[in-house]
Amino acid sequence: MIKMKYRKMGSLDWEVSALGFGAMRLPAIFGMAGGVKKKKAIEIIRSGIDQGINYIDTAWLYHLGGSEKVLGEALKDGYREKIKLVTKLPLMFVRKPEDFDKLLKQQLERLQTDYVDIYLFHGLNRNNFKKIEELNLFAKMEKAQEDGLIKHIGFSFHDTLPVFREIVDSYNWDMCLIQYNYMDTGIQATTDGLKYAHEKGIACVIMEPLKGGQLANPPDEAIEVMKKAKNTRTPVDWALQFLWNLPEVALVISGMGNQRMVDENCQSADKSGINTLSEDDTKIINELAEIFRKNILVPCTTCQYCMPCPYGVNIPDNFAILNNFNQYHGLRKTSERKKYKKLVGDAKRVDLENPNGNASICTKCNECIEKCPQNIQIPDELEKVHAILDKKKDVSEFY
Ligand code: SF4
Ligand code: SF4
Repeated sequence: MIKMKYRKMGSLDWEVSALGFGAMRLPAIFGMAGGVKKKKAIEIIRSGIDQGINYIDTAWLYHLGGSEKVLGEALKDGYREKIKLVTKLPLMFVRKPEDFDKLLKQQLERLQTDYVDIYLFHGLNRNNFKKIEELNLFAKMEKAQEDGLIKHIGFSFHDTLPVFREIVDSYNWDMCLIQYNYMDTGIQATTDGLKYAHEKGIACVIMEPLKGGQLANPPDEAIEVMKKAKNTRTPVDWALQFLWNLPEVALVISGMGNQRMVDENCQSADKSGINTLSEDDTKIINELAEIFRKNILVPCTTCQYCMPCPYGVNIPDNFAILNNFNQYHGLRKTSERKKYKKLVGDAKRVDLENPNGNASICTKCNECIEKCPQNIQIPDELEKVHAILDKKKDVSEFY
């Protein structure tokens, strides 16, 4: 029997489950951009809540509105009352202050609820943060709060530490959602940013605990390190326990797409606790982090924000194949090259509805670059993908 662990949520008077349900990678027909498989999604969301999850994170952009819509259905029959529901303002669609009201209204309708527990500015960085000030969107947030449409105010973040500090200092935030995992302690908000926000009483919620699933699929070298540990853990459990060990972390959001993930993550949460990792565990995690840092060539988290590419390049798949190719050996390496060959290299045969283009299709239109929260120079990296996987150039020529 699983017993969910509960934690303190910054300065809020909430007991939140150690594990939050991220509704960005629900079972779907074509990944994050495609239609959600409603029945399956509802089943796993409710199963997570039945196992003690009391925090669900979604956004307008997840499954292009499909995530909020399916949550509206999943949270019927008394499930809404059991959880804190969090969604995000899609800043990219806000051109004038009135857009705020229209977007929030549509989100509440999709979610079939009168209020959300936290409303976040989605994906703040140096550029879009200016927009909040220019359009006075803080006033919009506060009005929505007064009207009872939102209970608390937060932001999700993708930029560097100085920008993070600036944003943290600019407002009396209730929470922040940051990318953090044992590999990414020195990028984005970084460990210093996590501590800084926590000291200010802001609840720090963690996204990308597995770096888009990459930490769940370790190379052989990392598996050997895990085998040396006194505690036997799965790769996912290593990554999650690293986060739950930290007192600064309120909860960890995991984007779960099937029942196995929900069950395994809930089991891990059951064993979690602050300062529970041993010295040996910490040593193992440091070794794993070094291995992943060395092996992951393109820091793509498969978030899909860059999609769709107007020419049909499947950007995240191209990067995932390259990263796997670099970390694996022997047959696994060959199989990644085969996967690359299965992507289409002929612009006339590309399926724009279900993007299947390989890196060679990229026209360097640059439309995707600004959308990437990881600041990946996508066209340049795609060129390297093709050179390595198709032309068989050596990785060391580029990285
Ligand atoms: S730069 Fe390449 S990958 Fe990016 S949108 Fe344009 S064609 Fe697609
Ligand atoms: S390239 Fe950037 S935007 Fe595209 S999936 Fe990867 S991390 Fe996300």
